[in-house]
Amino acid sequence: MPLTQKRKRFKPETCDVCGCPTKVVDSKAVYGVKHAGWDSYIQCTDIFCRAFAPTRSHTYYASKPMFSESVRKARIEAHKVFDMLWSDHPEWRDQAYRWLAGEMGLRRATCHIRMFNYHQCQQVVELVNENYVRLRREWHIAENKKKPVNS
Ligand SMILES: [Zn+2]
Repeated sequence: MPLTQKRKRFKPETCDVCGCPTKVVDSKAVYGVKHAGWDSYIQCTDIFCRAFAPTRSHTYYASKPMFSESVRKARIEAHKVFDMLWSDHPEWRDQAYRWLAGEMGLRRATCHIRMFNYHQCQQVVELVNENYVRLRREWHIAENKKKPVNS
């Protein structure tokens, strides 16, 4: 069987992180340095994602889910920005997540930044930047209404 057919059969066709097509590459593409010995990785073709996983000898089967440094950094950044919405008001955390889930078209139970792909992380940053002032004002007003009025 030609090598190309074997690759097609065993490699994950789409990226585990972002869903873009993948390709088989060597260590130079992943680390910038060519390694000796068995040297084959599955890598995402999306230039911003570039998630990868090593493959097992001659099967081109990726034994681990694909994961990338760029996604790890994007999740940290998304969390930092999102947490600004509520971190000084811990009681707002749940409504912040409910708002985010609604905006992202997710259920609250499945809305976890640690599960987001690169593009979802970018979406979080954009959504918070666009809505930060309005949301915080609304939540402050709602909180003030709950307080008993002193007379
Ligand atoms: Zn990807």
